[in-house]
Amino acid sequence: MPPPTPCEEPMHDFLLTHDTPAQYAHALHETVDTLAVHLAGTRSPRSAATPEELEELVAAVDLERPLGDLGAVVEETRRLYLDHAVHFHTPGYMAHLNCPVAIPAVAAEALTAAVNTAVETWDQSTTATLVEQRIVDWTAARIGFPTAGEPDGVFTTGGTQSNLQALFTAREDRLSRSHPASRRERLGRLRIVAGEHAHFSVAKAAHLLGLSPDAVVPVPAARDGAMDPVALERALHDVAASGGEVAAVVATAGTTDLGAIDPLADVARACSAHDVWLHVDAAYGGGLLVSPAHRHRLDGIERADSVTVDFHKSWFQPVAASALLVREGRNLRFSTWSAEYLNPRHAVQPNLVDKSLQTTRRFDALKLWMTLRTVGAEGIGRALDRVLELAQEAGRIVDEAPDLELVARPVLSTVLFRHVPPGADDAADRLVETVRNTLFDSGRAVVASTVLDGRRCLKLTFLNPATTTDDVQQVLELVRAAGRDAAAPRPLEAAAGAR
Ligand SMILES: *Cc1c(COP(=O)(O)O)cnc(C)c1O
Repeated sequence: MPPPTPCEEPMHDFLLTHDTPAQYAHALHETVDTLAVHLAGTRSPRSAATPEELEELVAAVDLERPLGDLGAVVEETRRLYLDHAVHFHTPGYMAHLNCPVAIPAVAAEALTAAVNTAVETWDQSTTATLVEQRIVDWTAARIGFPTAGEPDGVFTTGGTQSNLQALFTAREDRLSRSHPASRRERLGRLRIVAGEHAHFSVAKAAHLLGLSPDAVVPVPAARDGAMDPVALERALHDVAASGGEVAAVVATAGTTDLGAIDPLADVARACSAHDVWLHVDAAYGGGLLVSPAHRHRLDGIERADSVTVDFHKSWFQPVAASALLVREGRNLRFSTWSAEYLNPRHAVQPNLVDKSLQTTRRFDALKLWMTLRTVGAEGIGRALDRVLELAQEAGRIVDEAPDLELVARPVLSTVLFRHVPPGADDAADRLVETVRNTLFDSGRAVVASTVLDGRRCLKLTFLNPATTTDDVQQVLELVRAAGRDAAAPRPLEAAAGAR
């Protein structure tokens, strides 16, 4: 890039405007080239830099002294960010529900960022409104919502927001039904009945919605970690018997740790019988909607009143991309607020802000749209099927290893296990955190940990279809090495607390 020249109109030379010279497009190309070279050359999930080293790197940048040249800034950012980012596309990353991203979706991000579409009103969005609506309708059809209810939905920032809006909608639907008690009294008595392994965002939503501290009623899981329908029946009866009102039952299709899928058809039957709202949190398992081999595992989801789907997990989309889908579109009216300047009440064109908790909102639907237009739903589903298969293979490898203990049979794409080196049975709990930290610090692998039935264990989450069983073996070797080191008798100075 040529050196920066003093500009007649300094306010304009960094903005994409109608008179932006073409040379600036060149700068964007260079950025993408830097990124492509970096991504292709990265094999480790992260650098081995310490938190102190990273703090120093960031603190050393003088925000009062701009470099004045995008090329130089990209280079600086490469050193600060790219070189130390946690890379989900590498074979050693097996920690959380982060995915490598679909290339058409990255292209979509470039388009939406540059055009800067805001989808909340027709007059800022036009086609983008129609594209989001098509993706929403398409997803609702994949769920199998009956068309008679005019199903609808809206994109959100993630499962947390989708769950919040779902439970808000359920609360309002419940409170809109006539009842002798006042709204305030009823609010204190509302309950959300959810599986014991439901995501924490459900409890957080209950709190944000002004429900009482004991509003979330946990339903014990059966042995496989999924909700026990008999226990659900009991919970529904207990709430009614104690004078409570159930605002919603939350079933999870893919719990975050175990991947357990609650028995959706049974839960739906109980919800119909008790006339209560069923929300299905399919933030993780929603990808099964496009799975060629496993779609049937979501059977019953079509009976939900609302569904959360995170496209930025099992659909390989960049963050953020999630949606809330509702069986009866009219229920989204509870989120409608009109402003004369933006979305007057009787507007002729669709204004998506009428359905959203957000106002200004990104055109995130284009990512999934462009991915579907490139590889189709089956392309996405096959990639998901591959990681499900990989989890099964990894489960077998762990199960057959004498020094590893498989804590639960893999259901979706997670594998929970413990490393128990000979003679270290009682240290296994403590080993988990040490092993996890050792791997993270080394930069060679990233794994997660969690607690199941009071026992700490390591967790592998697979979402990278290019990961192989060899990669799994290598990470397990790193786990063993770290476990052996930690379990070995320590030299005196280490025992005294020195490092
Ligand atoms: C990840 C997850 C969420 C939260 O989704 P975000 O996109 O991280 O906000 C909710 N429920 C389940 C089951 C999840 O796995």
